[in-house]
Amino acid sequence: MIYKDFKGLKLSGLGLGNMRFPLLSDDQSDVDLEQAEKIIDKAFELGVNYFDTAWAYHGGRSESILGRALSKYPRESFYISDKFPGFDVKNMARAREIFAEQLRRCGVERFDFYLLHNVSDNTLDGYMNEGSALIEYLLEEKAAGRIGHLGFSCHAELDGMRRFLDAHHNEMEFCQIQLNYLDWTYQHAREKVDMLREYGLPVWVMEPVRGGRLSRLPKAVVEEFNSIFPNDTLPSAAFRFLQSIPGVTMVLSGMSSVTQVEENAATWSNPRPMDGEEFEKIVDFGRRISKSGMVPCTGCRYCVAGCPQQLDIPALLTVYNELLFTNDVEAARTAIPEGRGPDMCVACHNCEKACPQELKVPGRLVELAEKLS
Ligand code: SF4
Ligand code: SF4
Repeated sequence: MIYKDFKGLKLSGLGLGNMRFPLLSDDQSDVDLEQAEKIIDKAFELGVNYFDTAWAYHGGRSESILGRALSKYPRESFYISDKFPGFDVKNMARAREIFAEQLRRCGVERFDFYLLHNVSDNTLDGYMNEGSALIEYLLEEKAAGRIGHLGFSCHAELDGMRRFLDAHHNEMEFCQIQLNYLDWTYQHAREKVDMLREYGLPVWVMEPVRGGRLSRLPKAVVEEFNSIFPNDTLPSAAFRFLQSIPGVTMVLSGMSSVTQVEENAATWSNPRPMDGEEFEKIVDFGRRISKSGMVPCTGCRYCVAGCPQQLDIPALLTVYNELLFTNDVEAARTAIPEGRGPDMCVACHNCEKACPQELKVPGRLVELAEKLS
């Protein structure tokens, strides 16, 4: 395992994101606990020492699942990172209560790392509202030793990100951004990395394989990838891309099986940063994917709870993407559960408001419904 220095701490270059555990049903909180614990244990065994969770992950269960699994290890042998759910402005008034509950759920007395969760163009004003005094409160917790290092995860566009950094770069020690070879150009991740360098903040990476989507590309795209990178798998190339970027300290991956942990840990045990030519090739490959019309959904499921039709929106968008490359309408029809197809969408736009990727979901569902009919 590669270890990176951060203010005297030795952090594994690969961290475990605890938001994509295998499920026993469609319900995000219905986690397969046995498998989840195996995933955490395997990560620990293979040298991962950074574990990331959040109030909202797995319907509020991720923190306690992680806390329970880690409780068998000495506290000084791992770093735990949690996040404040200020993307819902109602939580601002409950900061003390939520923070105390998070410590309780995780079974720890301090968080080594703590982040403002999802600073975006929609949530900036809430986070920057002096009246909420959230950052002030978190600095008090830091002074009291209950937070080791304070940072923020960011989905804002460049202007919003700069606005937040201008106001708070002195209080923030790291920033978690969505960074992968597709978003390098598609979501201006390159400029975000440059901006963080300007402010002297190290980069924590989320969505290195876009919620697994860059590991499960349509067959035709995989064939193209194999011809360019014959010695790589889709995830290993995605991780090698990140190994080439100066300033990247932590790469968080939400792993869903023990096999994935083993494969990813192997990539991080034998670093092979891309050379300039490979780097350009994979960025170009990402550019072609983003121009192909594929919907760049990460499968985070933030949109699902607010859908009045209870549609499995990320699953429908996966079908949309598959259809784009295969044109196999029959296969697409069979992949959609009865009565939960794209034609059920009532265009309420709740999903768009919840989507950190700002995807125009209803329009894509209309297109999908037309293709299926
Ligand atoms: S726009 Fe459609 S898919 Fe989105 S939340 Fe509303 S009904 Fe569900
Ligand atoms: S549509 Fe947006 S919110 Fe929903 S799963 Fe995809 S990326 Fe996440």
